[in-house]
Amino acid sequence: MTKIQNYINGTYCNPETNAWLDNYDPSIGEVYSQIAESTPQDVQAAYEAAKAAFPAWSQTPIEERSRILLNIADLIEADLDTLAAAESKDNGKPLSLATAVDIPRASANFRFFGNAITQFASEAHESVGRSTMNFTLRQPIGVVGCISPWNLPLYLFTWKVAPAIAAGNCVVAKPSEVTPMTAYLLGEILTKAGLPKGVLNIVHGTGPSAGQAIVEHPGIKAISFTGGTKTGEHLARTAAPMFKKLSLELGGKNPNLIFADCNYDKMLAVTVRSSFANQGQICLCGSRIYVEESIADQFKKDFVAKVSQLKVGNPMDSDTNLGALVSKPHMEKVLSYIDIAQEEGGNVLYGGNQVTVPGLEEGYYVEPTVIEVDSNDCTIQKEEVFGPVVTIVTFSNEEEAIAMANDVKYGLSATLWSSDLDRTMRVSKKLEAGIVWVNSWLNRDLRTPFGGVKASGVGREGGFEALRFFTEPKNVCITYNES
Ligand code: NAD
Repeated sequence: MTKIQNYINGTYCNPETNAWLDNYDPSIGEVYSQIAESTPQDVQAAYEAAKAAFPAWSQTPIEERSRILLNIADLIEADLDTLAAAESKDNGKPLSLATAVDIPRASANFRFFGNAITQFASEAHESVGRSTMNFTLRQPIGVVGCISPWNLPLYLFTWKVAPAIAAGNCVVAKPSEVTPMTAYLLGEILTKAGLPKGVLNIVHGTGPSAGQAIVEHPGIKAISFTGGTKTGEHLARTAAPMFKKLSLELGGKNPNLIFADCNYDKMLAVTVRSSFANQGQICLCGSRIYVEESIADQFKKDFVAKVSQLKVGNPMDSDTNLGALVSKPHMEKVLSYIDIAQEEGGNVLYGGNQVTVPGLEEGYYVEPTVIEVDSNDCTIQKEEVFGPVVTIVTFSNEEEAIAMANDVKYGLSATLWSSDLDRTMRVSKKLEAGIVWVNSWLNRDLRTPFGGVKASGVGREGGFEALRFFTEPKNVCITYNES
């Protein structure tokens, strides 16, 4: 059975206590590999490697750092098939999705930040008449921590580590213990790409042990975290007394507003995807659909007809639309939310049940589920389910739609369907979200700021925002003699 080891100082190694956790293949519900159960000792070893690598890496010319990041991007691309198969097996997502989205995006993250760092510049402010020039020196922070979740494993892991190392930092990173495989495989690629030892150290293990040790480590000066809102709260409490720089990308409960004047066919096709892509386990999925009264009956009929065509099945089959949920506890949580919704008066229009896939009877499969509710006044409208479950609520006018969309503690993304430009501008400005997609969904340009408001997080990633996060701005003020 494969042992998923830590990657510290450019070498794969066992955890110091030699303790291992079981790692499951969710498509069959069986253990298929073992993962290092790291402790604070392993985090300390990773920290020391990172600290030792920092002086040389932070002084490595930007062109050279860029070249290495682009090498990593090329090598991920060359390993597409192996990495996609590994991601699908570890996570339960359809192989087609891992091949088309997850792994290409992991490569794109390194390529993007490998290029972006060559264009990253800072400001200068001349104090005219005072013989003074100010400039902003942007220096890497030192050793930083990156902690990522299980839903888009390599995609989100690389989204953090790529800008961190591009900016000249050295990293102690921890992928989710639920989906560690592709971050493990990345170690080999880093070595092949010529990344110097210690620049990126990957420690596996649980949040409360390895993750907590990263957040608590006094030498790790900044933490970039993506995960649940509750974990984010805990992290913020731990890191605040140490005044660490924090970037928190947290949960969502995103509204999808559908106005009668939209391009109906496009909206319908994209709404199926925005509801159920990756089994609904994308922080950006539009889990609350609000549809205008005049088209609500037609929409419900057409949406359910399309959803009923989705195939839940073996992630390896090319015609599978929804694979397995990531773990048994997660599947049970999703099913319990469906029960709660029904107890509170929700009407299941489609799905609602666990699925037994022939030959994969122990896997964690759930039907795509559509629930009609009357208002926001129920649990399913307030809490993040993070599974293949969407709700539908009807609205009668723009003000009501905006009020219902904002009536939640989260504020990650929102989607808006309308062909009226004036309306799209008005509504976009009023939605409480970090990202608003108008007439599309998950249409990403890596230069844009990415992140949420309210309980969906603090700070922004993406583009130069990420490079700003991973550098400290220092004002250098030079006064000089004019003569
Ligand atoms: P999680 O919070 O349980 O875990 C995320 C990571 O944090 C894991 O690596 C975990 O081991 C680690 N962790 C847990 N406890 C920790 C602690 N005490 N100290 C340090 N690290 C700790 O989240 P998850 O279940 O893996 O992911 C699902 C959540 O992530 C959802 O809420 C989803 O919305 C969110 N998410 C947000 C975004 C975004 O960009 N905003 C993207 C993807 C997922």
